[in-house]
Amino acid sequence: MDMAFAAAAQIDLHLLAELREQTHGNIIVPGDAEYDRARMAWNLTVDQYPEVIVVAQSAADVAAAVRFARASHLDVAIQSTGHGVARPANDAVLIITSNLKEICVDADSRTAWIEAGLKWGEVLKETQAVGLAPLLGSSPEVGVVGYTLGGGMGWLARKYGLATDSVRYFEVVTAEGKLVRASATENSDLFWGLRGGGGNFGVVTGMEIQLYPVTEVYGGTLIYPGETAKAALQHFREWIKTAPEELTSSIEIMNFPPLPELPEFMRGRTVVMVNACYSGPVEQGPAYIQPWLDWMQPIVNGFHPMPFLEVGTISNDPVDPSPGISTGMWLADLSDEAIDIIVNHAVSVNGSSPIVKTEIRHAGGAISRVDAQASAYSHRDETLIMQCVSITPTAEAVEASHRFVGAFKAALAAHLTNGVYINFLDGEDAREQTRNAYSAGHFARLRMLKAKYDPDNLFSHSFDIPPMQEDDIDL
Ligand SMILES: Cc1cc2nc3c(=O)[nH]c(=O)nc-3n(C[C@H](O)[C@H](O)[C@H](O)COP(=O)(O)OP(=O)(O)OC[C@H]3O[C@@H](n4cnc5c(N)ncnc54)[C@H](O)[C@@H]3O)c2cc1C
Repeated sequence: MDMAFAAAAQIDLHLLAELREQTHGNIIVPGDAEYDRARMAWNLTVDQYPEVIVVAQSAADVAAAVRFARASHLDVAIQSTGHGVARPANDAVLIITSNLKEICVDADSRTAWIEAGLKWGEVLKETQAVGLAPLLGSSPEVGVVGYTLGGGMGWLARKYGLATDSVRYFEVVTAEGKLVRASATENSDLFWGLRGGGGNFGVVTGMEIQLYPVTEVYGGTLIYPGETAKAALQHFREWIKTAPEELTSSIEIMNFPPLPELPEFMRGRTVVMVNACYSGPVEQGPAYIQPWLDWMQPIVNGFHPMPFLEVGTISNDPVDPSPGISTGMWLADLSDEAIDIIVNHAVSVNGSSPIVKTEIRHAGGAISRVDAQASAYSHRDETLIMQCVSITPTAEAVEASHRFVGAFKAALAAHLTNGVYINFLDGEDAREQTRNAYSAGHFARLRMLKAKYDPDNLFSHSFDIPPMQEDDIDL
């Protein structure tokens, strides 16, 4: 232990020694050889300098780390993969959960106990082995807990709902450093808040989730030239009007860089991609895609019956760490006027747009059939969620993207609900817009819950839910 580090960080060496004794996990501090690797997030725009990093091996390690942070007057930041960092772990104890990998699938009850360090692809593999599916999102690389705490909208969302609605219970280390269970019958208020409220109330060490009998789907992507963007969005608007709940779909405008490894029709060009997953009987799937083929022959038709194990190929999200920022908003309508504004900002003409991907996903279905009061997740009745992603390798690129997206949102304001889906927001955007992810009533309830479970805001590196104060008059 470097004495200069301890002095600078005001870390109590006795507390740190105690932490090392109490945990089996790796404790890493600035100056250690592993520090720079350990502080990295999947999203390379995140540059964070935690005071102490605890790579937990067990729930007991997590509890010890939380108690250490409390005693050291430091905040706690939580990371599994680093796909969704809202506030970098500066001046904090960063608890890394990625080694918590236990999984126990019960085929009879169609449930699985999954620990917090698992990625969805790992859970998918184990559950498909017994013919069952979890409600993962577009990328198998995303962590199970971060995704679920924000909602969790994947390719089975319209049929089976949000991942958060399929949690049976969580095990959570609270701000007091105690491991508790949160379910419909135990700490039910905490259970309510965790389902949508993010990492604000404790460190989830694992959860039991419901699984579904899905092993094969009809899925894939159609690719059309960028010039069709306006007409394709209009067609999408009409197509989804009659979509059954078994069909979850999205439309993307993608601006590809001029990379030599890309096929010619993508290289340096804009394309429109129509993605979908039909989870009813696979032989019925082609009939739902046919309206697109009748509308216009695509450059590529990638639809086929696919093992659900391959569901990640529908979106083909990047696997390797990359620098990017994402923002998202619920659309109030997809009128011709809204489409014109979207196309003008999403289609890059000679580099006019820094946005690489603008995707509109069709929600609704089972998501909206859950009682609005059942959990903190709000905006269940909205059906069109738009997400914009920019690749931002430099601070200038981050700035340019913020400016451009700000102007985009302003132009589109009349066609937005003002609500956001918190999982599609990164960094400061996630914190600044936290309130817009919830109904006013749910946000007030979350703040009260925060005052009960984390009054000192120890877990302040997630979405911004300040503990309710007695003299708060705005709510
Ligand atoms: C390529 C890509 C594809 C995506 N696809 C989808 C999608 O299809 N649908 C969707 O809904 N979202 C999607 N997302 C968003 C994703 O769900 C969020 O970014 C989510 O927060 C990532 O969780 P993580 O654990 O992997 O990331 P992390 O950055 O490790 O965690 C994100 C945050 O979650 C909280 N958290 C994580 N683990 C715990 C824990 N154990 N206890 C308490 N809090 C915890 C913390 O606040 C943490 O800061 C995608 C993101 C990316 C980058």
